[in-house]
Amino acid sequence: MKAFYAQEQKRHDPKAFLSSGAAQPNPEKPERVERLLGGAKSAGCTIERPRDHGLGPVSAVHTPEYLDFLEHIFERWQRIEGASAEVIPNIHPIARNGSYPASAVGQAGYHMADTACPISGETWQSALWSAWSAVEAAETVTAGAPSAYALCRPPGHHAFADVAGGFCFINNSAVAAQVLRRQAARVAILDVDLHHGNGTQGIFYARPDVLTVSLHADPVRFYPFFWGHADERGEGPGLGYNFNLPLPRKSADVAFLEALEVAFQRIRSFSPDALVVALGLDAFEGDPFGGLSVTTPGFSRIGEAIAGLGLPAVIVQEGGYLCDELGDNLTAFLTGFGGKAR
Ligand SMILES: [Zn+2]
Repeated sequence: MKAFYAQEQKRHDPKAFLSSGAAQPNPEKPERVERLLGGAKSAGCTIERPRDHGLGPVSAVHTPEYLDFLEHIFERWQRIEGASAEVIPNIHPIARNGSYPASAVGQAGYHMADTACPISGETWQSALWSAWSAVEAAETVTAGAPSAYALCRPPGHHAFADVAGGFCFINNSAVAAQVLRRQAARVAILDVDLHHGNGTQGIFYARPDVLTVSLHADPVRFYPFFWGHADERGEGPGLGYNFNLPLPRKSADVAFLEALEVAFQRIRSFSPDALVVALGLDAFEGDPFGGLSVTTPGFSRIGEAIAGLGLPAVIVQEGGYLCDELGDNLTAFLTGFGGKAR
């Protein structure tokens, strides 16, 4: 399987992160890239650099004012006397029906959902190349490959059309789905990350052409709290095209695979032409977030099960944080997937 990654994706190096109000080192570290590259190579992937795809595929799912914000906010932030080294919001609108703020501080609050997505001078280029890896993988599948892997870092599934959040800036899975839509009439996104793919859900919430399905730790007491509940089913023409499967905390392989079967029924009923797998590896039992208890062999079974759908698939990296098994878990997933795929 071809894998896509560009070195620029490693430059983003966020320092800060507030967890339950306490300052912690940001877990979305550049070192994740080395582990994931190693894991992809062990699964037999060849690593290729994506091309520069410009803003077209990104602006297909994000608003122009948001992309302008991402590109320029760090430079503007530097002109504020006494401001933090990284862009971190400290005020948010309680609803988004007021005026669009003109100031850097106001726009940071408007476009950033939380404190987990600090923006530095490297963030824009890293996020853009991460998205281009997703574009290249999607174009590879559109050209006839049965599957391709995009080593997307920074990750993307918590990014809405105009809001960053949870380590995410550009929604790589949504970008990949939209690229697939050039030829595929219907695309399904299956998100197996520990956390609900709230940004992806938000982007496609009113659309019937992209089915969004997410398995994740129950958000009743877990990030992203406000989204990921079973009663969120889509709206307008998209009603019935969003499907959430929240799992009890510490659910392990058997429960995860059972939920996956339920997800597959919905995906089969939709009869998509192509699939995006939003592959978080943080459902792992040893992941620092500790939300679910999937094992390394479990990821192999998950990969094998998803490949059993028999759909052309773009596998997009989402979460999965530093632990000894991070690379092994990617190898397990890709090997399981590849063993079953055509
Ligand atoms: Zn996650």
